[in-house]
Amino acid sequence: MTLPAAFVLKVDVDTHVGLRDGAPRLLELFEKHGIRASWFVTMGPDRTGRSALRVFRQKGFLSKMLRSGAPRLYPMSTMLRGTLLPAIPVVAGQPERLRAIERGGHELGIHGFDHVYWHDELAAMNPGEVEAEVERAASLFEDILGRRPDCFAAPGWQCTAASLRATDALGLRHRSDTRGTRPYRPSMSGYDSPTPEVPTTLPTLDEILGRVGSSATELNAAYAEWIDDDGLNVHTIHTEVEGAAYLEQLDGLLERVRDRVPIRTLGEVVEELGPPQDLPLESVAPGRLPGRGGTVACQGTM
Ligand SMILES: [Zn+2]
Repeated sequence: MTLPAAFVLKVDVDTHVGLRDGAPRLLELFEKHGIRASWFVTMGPDRTGRSALRVFRQKGFLSKMLRSGAPRLYPMSTMLRGTLLPAIPVVAGQPERLRAIERGGHELGIHGFDHVYWHDELAAMNPGEVEAEVERAASLFEDILGRRPDCFAAPGWQCTAASLRATDALGLRHRSDTRGTRPYRPSMSGYDSPTPEVPTTLPTLDEILGRVGSSATELNAAYAEWIDDDGLNVHTIHTEVEGAAYLEQLDGLLERVRDRVPIRTLGEVVEELGPPQDLPLESVAPGRLPGRGGTVACQGTM
Protein backbone atom coordinates (compact mmCIF):
# COMPACT_ATOMS: atom_id res chain seq x y z
CA MET A 1 0.00 0.00 0.00
CA THR A 2 1.44 3.36 -0.95
CA LEU A 3 0.33 6.08 1.41
CA PRO A 4 -0.74 9.38 -0.08
CA ALA A 5 1.47 12.21 1.19
CA ALA A 6 -0.89 14.30 3.26
CA PHE A 7 -1.28 16.44 6.34
CA VAL A 8 -4.72 16.02 7.91
CA LEU A 9 -6.15 18.27 10.58
CA LYS A 10 -8.56 16.28 12.71
CA VAL A 11 -10.55 18.74 14.80
CA ASP A 12 -12.16 17.42 17.99
CA VAL A 13 -14.96 19.47 19.53
CA ASP A 14 -15.36 18.33 23.15
CA THR A 15 -17.24 21.18 24.85
CA HIS A 16 -20.00 23.78 24.54
CA VAL A 17 -17.51 26.64 24.61
CA GLY A 18 -15.33 24.84 22.06
CA LEU A 19 -18.21 24.76 19.56
CA ARG A 20 -19.41 28.27 20.44
CA ASP A 21 -16.09 30.16 20.41
CA GLY A 22 -13.32 27.90 19.16
CA ALA A 23 -15.03 26.49 16.06
CA PRO A 24 -15.75 29.91 14.46
CA ARG A 25 -12.13 30.98 15.02
CA LEU A 26 -10.80 27.80 13.42
CA LEU A 27 -13.25 28.10 10.50
CA GLU A 28 -11.91 31.58 9.85
CA LEU A 29 -8.30 30.41 10.08
CA PHE A 30 -8.92 27.50 7.68
CA GLU A 31 -10.63 29.83 5.22
CA LYS A 32 -7.63 32.14 5.34
CA HIS A 33 -5.35 29.22 4.49
CA GLY A 34 -7.80 27.80 1.93
CA ILE A 35 -7.84 24.37 3.58
CA ARG A 36 -10.46 21.85 4.68
CA ALA A 37 -10.32 19.78 7.85
CA SER A 38 -12.05 16.72 9.34
CA TRP A 39 -14.25 17.75 12.27
CA PHE A 40 -15.69 15.47 14.95
CA VAL A 41 -18.24 16.91 17.34
CA THR A 42 -19.38 15.57 20.73
CA MET A 43 -23.17 15.63 20.37
CA GLY A 44 -24.37 15.31 24.00
CA PRO A 45 -23.78 17.00 27.35
CA ASP A 46 -20.65 18.94 28.31
CA ARG A 47 -19.65 17.46 31.66
CA THR A 48 -15.98 18.37 31.36
CA GLY A 49 -15.78 19.16 35.07
CA ARG A 50 -16.20 15.43 35.71
CA SER A 51 -12.80 14.86 34.13
CA ALA A 52 -11.28 16.98 36.90
CA LEU A 53 -12.15 14.06 39.19
CA ARG A 54 -9.63 11.96 37.23
CA VAL A 55 -6.96 13.80 39.20
CA PHE A 56 -7.80 11.51 42.08
CA ARG A 57 -8.05 8.30 40.11
CA GLN A 58 -5.63 8.33 37.24
CA LYS A 59 -1.86 8.19 37.40
CA GLY A 60 -0.26 10.92 35.33
CA PHE A 61 -3.40 13.02 34.90
CA LEU A 62 -2.52 15.66 37.48
CA SER A 63 1.01 16.12 36.17
CA LYS A 64 -0.38 16.47 32.65
CA MET A 65 -2.91 19.07 33.81
CA LEU A 66 -0.23 21.08 35.58
CA ARG A 67 2.43 20.76 32.88
CA SER A 68 0.07 21.69 30.04
CA GLY A 69 -1.39 24.51 32.11
CA ALA A 70 -4.93 23.11 31.71
CA PRO A 71 -6.47 25.94 33.73
CA ARG A 72 -5.07 28.24 31.04
CA LEU A 73 -6.23 25.97 28.19
CA TYR A 74 -9.74 25.53 29.53
CA PRO A 75 -11.80 28.37 31.02
CA MET A 76 -12.92 27.88 34.62
CA SER A 77 -16.58 27.54 33.54
CA THR A 78 -15.60 24.55 31.34
CA MET A 79 -13.54 23.00 34.13
CA LEU A 80 -16.59 23.03 36.40
CA ARG A 81 -19.20 21.75 33.89
CA GLY A 82 -21.06 18.80 35.31
CA THR A 83 -19.74 19.31 38.83
CA LEU A 84 -20.35 22.72 40.43
CA LEU A 85 -22.00 24.07 37.28
CA PRO A 86 -24.79 22.08 35.62
CA ALA A 87 -23.95 20.12 32.47
CA ILE A 88 -24.87 22.01 29.29
CA PRO A 89 -25.49 20.48 25.83
CA VAL A 90 -22.57 20.90 23.43
CA VAL A 91 -24.73 21.11 20.30
CA ALA A 92 -28.46 21.18 21.13
CA GLY A 93 -28.68 24.91 21.95
CA GLN A 94 -26.49 26.01 19.04
CA PRO A 95 -27.20 23.76 16.01
CA GLU A 96 -26.31 26.59 13.62
CA ARG A 97 -22.69 26.26 14.73
CA LEU A 98 -22.68 22.63 13.59
CA ARG A 99 -24.20 23.60 10.25
CA ALA A 100 -21.54 26.32 9.83
CA ILE A 101 -18.81 23.65 9.84
CA GLU A 102 -20.51 21.76 7.03
CA ARG A 103 -21.24 24.98 5.12
CA GLY A 104 -17.52 25.74 5.24
CA GLY A 105 -16.96 22.67 3.03
CA HIS A 106 -15.36 20.59 5.77
CA GLU A 107 -15.76 16.94 6.56
CA LEU A 108 -18.01 16.45 9.60
CA GLY A 109 -18.64 13.44 11.80
CA ILE A 110 -19.43 12.59 15.40
CA HIS A 111 -17.18 12.38 18.46
CA GLY A 112 -19.53 10.37 20.66
CA PHE A 113 -22.48 11.61 22.70
CA ASP A 114 -21.23 12.11 26.28
CA HIS A 115 -17.46 12.58 25.98
CA VAL A 116 -16.68 12.14 29.68
CA TYR A 117 -18.92 9.06 30.07
CA TRP A 118 -17.35 7.41 26.99
CA HIS A 119 -13.82 8.29 28.07
CA ASP A 120 -14.24 6.99 31.62
CA GLU A 121 -16.73 4.14 31.27
CA LEU A 122 -16.45 2.66 27.77
CA ALA A 123 -14.44 -0.36 28.91
CA ALA A 124 -17.18 -1.24 31.45
CA MET A 125 -20.19 -0.57 29.16
CA ASN A 126 -22.19 -3.48 27.77
CA PRO A 127 -22.88 -3.55 24.00
CA GLY A 128 -26.41 -2.13 24.46
CA GLU A 129 -25.09 0.88 26.38
CA VAL A 130 -22.47 1.58 23.71
CA GLU A 131 -25.09 1.28 20.95
CA ALA A 132 -27.33 3.74 22.83
CA GLU A 133 -24.52 6.32 23.07
CA VAL A 134 -23.74 6.00 19.37
CA GLU A 135 -27.42 6.13 18.37
CA ARG A 136 -28.16 9.22 20.48
CA ALA A 137 -25.26 11.04 18.81
CA ALA A 138 -26.25 9.87 15.32
CA SER A 139 -29.93 10.81 15.79
CA LEU A 140 -29.19 14.35 16.93
CA PHE A 141 -26.70 14.75 14.07
CA GLU A 142 -29.40 13.60 11.65
CA ASP A 143 -32.03 15.92 13.19
CA ILE A 144 -29.76 18.90 12.60
CA LEU A 145 -28.08 18.06 9.29
CA GLY A 146 -30.68 15.84 7.63
CA ARG A 147 -28.30 12.93 7.06
CA ARG A 148 -26.70 10.15 9.07
CA PRO A 149 -23.06 10.63 10.09
CA ASP A 150 -20.60 8.63 8.00
CA CYS A 151 -17.42 9.10 9.99
CA PHE A 152 -16.58 8.76 13.68
CA ALA A 153 -13.76 9.56 16.09
CA ALA A 154 -13.75 7.94 19.54
CA PRO A 155 -13.72 10.32 22.52
CA GLY A 156 -10.36 10.17 24.31
CA TRP A 157 -9.11 7.52 21.81
CA GLN A 158 -11.06 4.89 23.74
CA CYS A 159 -12.39 1.97 21.76
CA THR A 160 -13.52 -1.59 22.36
CA ALA A 161 -14.87 -4.40 20.20
CA ALA A 162 -18.38 -3.22 21.19
CA SER A 163 -17.69 0.37 20.12
CA LEU A 164 -16.17 -0.74 16.81
CA ARG A 165 -19.25 -2.87 16.15
CA ALA A 166 -21.73 -0.15 17.21
CA THR A 167 -20.11 2.52 15.05
CA ASP A 168 -19.67 0.16 12.08
CA ALA A 169 -23.47 -0.28 12.19
CA LEU A 170 -23.73 3.37 11.05
CA GLY A 171 -22.19 2.30 7.73
CA LEU A 172 -19.10 4.45 8.22
CA ARG A 173 -16.82 5.43 5.34
CA HIS A 174 -13.93 5.71 7.78
CA ARG A 175 -13.09 6.29 11.42
CA SER A 176 -10.24 7.71 13.48
CA ASP A 177 -10.34 6.06 16.92
CA THR A 178 -6.71 5.24 17.60
CA ARG A 179 -3.12 6.43 17.74
CA GLY A 180 -0.77 4.83 15.27
CA THR A 181 1.20 5.22 12.08
CA ARG A 182 -0.79 4.14 9.02
CA PRO A 183 -4.33 3.25 7.85
CA TYR A 184 -5.65 -0.23 8.65
CA ARG A 185 -8.75 -2.15 9.70
CA PRO A 186 -8.97 -2.60 13.48
CA SER A 187 -9.47 -5.95 15.15
CA MET A 188 -10.38 -6.35 18.82
CA SER A 189 -11.47 -9.35 20.90
CA GLY A 190 -12.33 -11.39 17.83
CA TYR A 191 -14.22 -8.60 16.04
CA ASP A 192 -12.75 -7.57 12.66
CA SER A 193 -13.96 -4.15 11.52
CA PRO A 194 -14.66 -3.64 7.79
CA THR A 195 -14.10 0.13 8.17
CA PRO A 196 -10.82 1.90 7.35
CA GLU A 197 -9.22 3.37 10.47
CA VAL A 198 -6.92 6.35 9.94
CA PRO A 199 -5.10 6.88 13.24
CA THR A 200 -3.75 10.10 14.69
CA THR A 201 -0.02 9.95 13.94
CA LEU A 202 1.35 13.10 15.60
CA PRO A 203 1.41 13.95 19.32
CA THR A 204 -1.23 16.47 20.42
CA LEU A 205 -0.31 19.89 21.70
CA ASP A 206 -1.29 19.13 25.30
CA GLU A 207 1.02 16.09 25.21
CA ILE A 208 4.09 18.12 24.23
CA LEU A 209 3.46 21.42 26.05
CA GLY A 210 6.18 21.91 28.61
CA ARG A 211 8.12 18.91 27.31
CA VAL A 212 9.49 20.26 24.02
CA GLY A 213 8.91 23.87 24.99
CA SER A 214 5.99 26.19 25.44
CA SER A 215 6.39 28.99 22.90
CA ALA A 216 4.77 28.73 19.47
CA THR A 217 8.23 28.77 17.90
CA GLU A 218 9.48 25.84 19.98
CA LEU A 219 6.29 23.83 19.52
CA ASN A 220 6.20 24.36 15.76
CA ALA A 221 9.88 23.55 15.38
CA ALA A 222 9.13 20.17 17.02
CA TYR A 223 6.16 19.51 14.72
CA ALA A 224 8.20 20.58 11.68
CA GLU A 225 10.72 17.87 12.56
CA TRP A 226 8.10 15.15 13.09
CA ILE A 227 6.13 15.83 9.91
CA ASP A 228 6.93 13.38 7.12
CA ASP A 229 6.77 15.16 3.75
CA ASP A 230 6.29 11.89 1.87
CA GLY A 231 3.93 10.15 4.26
CA LEU A 232 0.62 10.45 6.05
CA ASN A 233 0.45 12.91 8.95
CA VAL A 234 -2.71 13.11 11.04
CA HIS A 235 -2.76 15.89 13.62
CA THR A 236 -5.58 16.06 16.19
CA ILE A 237 -6.36 19.56 17.42
CA HIS A 238 -9.05 20.81 19.81
CA THR A 239 -11.43 23.75 19.46
CA GLU A 240 -10.75 24.41 23.15
CA VAL A 241 -6.98 24.65 22.65
CA GLU A 242 -5.90 25.55 19.09
CA GLY A 243 -9.26 27.33 18.67
CA ALA A 244 -8.46 29.49 21.72
CA ALA A 245 -5.10 30.26 23.37
CA TYR A 246 -3.06 28.44 20.69
CA LEU A 247 -4.71 29.84 17.55
CA GLU A 248 -1.58 31.74 16.57
CA GLN A 249 0.56 28.65 17.09
CA LEU A 250 -1.66 26.69 14.68
CA ASP A 251 -1.58 29.57 12.20
CA GLY A 252 2.22 29.40 12.27
CA LEU A 253 2.20 25.61 11.90
CA LEU A 254 -0.10 25.76 8.85
CA GLU A 255 2.17 28.40 7.35
CA ARG A 256 5.10 25.97 7.64
CA VAL A 257 3.19 22.86 6.52
CA ARG A 258 1.37 24.34 3.52
CA ASP A 259 4.36 24.34 1.21
CA ARG A 260 5.63 20.94 2.31
CA VAL A 261 2.66 18.53 2.25
CA PRO A 262 -0.84 18.72 0.71
CA ILE A 263 -3.45 19.40 3.40
CA ARG A 264 -6.36 16.97 2.96
CA THR A 265 -9.33 15.54 4.82
CA LEU A 266 -9.45 12.00 6.20
CA GLY A 267 -12.09 11.15 3.57
CA GLU A 268 -9.81 12.27 0.74
CA VAL A 269 -6.99 10.14 2.11
CA VAL A 270 -9.27 7.09 2.43
CA GLU A 271 -10.48 7.44 -1.15
CA GLU A 272 -6.91 7.04 -2.37
CA LEU A 273 -6.29 3.91 -0.32
CA GLY A 274 -8.34 1.62 -2.54
CA PRO A 275 -10.90 -0.98 -1.42
CA PRO A 276 -11.20 -1.17 2.41
CA GLN A 277 -10.94 -4.98 2.35
CA ASP A 278 -7.39 -4.63 0.98
CA LEU A 279 -6.25 -2.74 4.09
CA PRO A 280 -4.32 -4.84 6.60
CA LEU A 281 -6.19 -6.09 9.65
CA GLU A 282 -4.33 -5.07 12.80
CA SER A 283 -5.00 -5.48 16.49
CA VAL A 284 -5.79 -2.56 18.78
CA ALA A 285 -4.71 -2.50 22.40
CA PRO A 286 -4.56 0.07 25.19
CA GLY A 287 -1.17 1.76 25.42
CA ARG A 288 0.47 4.68 27.18
CA LEU A 289 1.79 7.75 25.39
CA PRO A 290 4.38 10.25 26.65
CA GLY A 291 2.63 13.29 28.12
CA ARG A 292 -0.83 11.68 28.36
CA GLY A 293 -2.44 10.24 31.50
CA GLY A 294 -4.21 6.88 31.32
CA THR A 295 -4.25 4.64 28.28
CA VAL A 296 -5.41 5.17 24.69
CA ALA A 297 -6.23 2.73 21.90
CA CYS A 298 -3.03 2.07 19.96
CA GLN A 299 -2.47 0.39 16.61
CA GLY A 300 -0.58 -2.87 17.00
CA THR A 301 0.23 -5.71 14.70
CA MET A 302 -1.47 -9.08 14.51
ZN1 LIG B 1 -12.27 14.62 22.46
